[in-house]
Formats: sequence, C-alpha cells, structure tokens
Amino acid sequence: MATSRNNERIRYRYGICLNDNCEKCKSKEVQEITARKDFVCQNPDCGKPLRECPPPKKGGKSKLIAIIAGVIALLAIIGCIIAFSGGGEESPAPTPVPEVTENTDSIKAAREAAEQQRIKDSLDAAAAAEAAKKQEAEKEAKPAPAAPKPAKPASGSKDLGYATFKGSWPNDVNGRMVFKSSHVIDSKDSKKRVAEAGDYVIGEWADGHLVQGIWYGADNKVKGSIIIGK
Ligand SMILES: [Zn+2]
Repeated sequence: MATSRNNERIRYRYGICLNDNCEKCKSKEVQEITARKDFVCQNPDCGKPLRECPPPKKGGKSKLIAIIAGVIALLAIIGCIIAFSGGGEESPAPTPVPEVTENTDSIKAAREAAEQQRIKDSLDAAAAAEAAKKQEAEKEAKPAPAAPKPAKPASGSKDLGYATFKGSWPNDVNGRMVFKSSHVIDSKDSKKRVAEAGDYVIGEWADGHLVQGIWYGADNKVKGSIIIGK
C-alpha cells in the first residue's frame, strides 16, 4: 500500500490555478497533473502555471473511511457467522483485514450477499418445515370429523312403546323397528298393515315415518315389502 502511494506521488503533481479569469481557479479545483506533463492549468482557455499543493485529502479520507467501514462490516459479518455456527468453531475467517481498498468493497459485497442468501435459505427452510408441519397437523385433524354419518344400524335405540326402533331416530337410511306388540306398522301406510309382536321392519325412516323397508316375521321370514314414500 505504501509503495503504491509513493508511486502515485511520484507520477502525479497536484496544483491549483491562480488565474482569476479561469473556471478552474474559481472552482478552486485541485488539478492532477501527470509528472511528465507541463505543470500548467488544464483549462484549454487558460494554460497558466499551477501553484503546487498537497494531493486532495478528500480521496485519502474517503479511502480511509471505506477501509474502516469495510473492517467494521467484516467484523460484524464474522461475528454473525460465529453466532450462527454456535461459536463452537474457531473463526476460520480468512484475512480479517484486507490490504486493498477496492477488494474490501467487493469482499464486503460478496460476504453480505452470501450472508443474505444464507439467512434467506434458512428462512425458506424454516417456512417449508412450518408448512409441512401444518399440513401434517391438518391431515391428522381431518379424519376425526370426516365421518359424520357412518352406517351404524344399531348405534342407538328409541322406545316407542309398541316397538323399539334401533338406529338414529327419527331419520335413518338403515334402521330397524322391532315390534313388541301388535301395531300398525306406520300411520302413513295406506294399507294400514299391522305387525305382530316379534315382527320387525328393516328400512329407511324419515321424520319418524317409514319410507320403505322389508317386513319380517319373528321367524325371520319376509312378510312383505313396504313402500310408502316420503
Ligand atoms: Zn487556469
């Protein structure tokens, strides 16, 4: 670094134009003149000799600031990496202090990009895991209320006095009415068929009335088919 700066000093001279009529004088511009060239104002309308001055500090200062900023950023990134890796490893950080300014910026940018990508990746992974977990939970939660009406012929029963209904009263597509005493099978039946004690009817009920069914005797023989409708 020192060498390159010395070279710069040798190769260039810096000067200010003192010609009051020159734009470069009015703007107090520090002109950089190659050592081999004449040390005169670069304004083509002027061309007066320049007064030598120290090289502009602006560049040096901003370079220094860039280096400091680069170092700080690098230290911050290294700190993040150590923190993310749990601090278990000794920092494998290569050359924490860069030698050349131009590289500082590119290294910094590359590091930042890599770090951002890393964070993004881990966020994506976390989001994916979260989504998978959610799906899993939904899958587990669904089957429970999924079967609202499984055909369960004798899950419940309703005592009607003259008969016992086995199924989900008053609506069941596969219920069973077992008669305890002689009674008309259904008041809506136009034929007013009467079942005896021990007879039973298997079929569909709606609103407590037989829609259609098969009528069996106590001996399990079919006595008839009943279709009343809704
Ligand atoms: Zn000039």
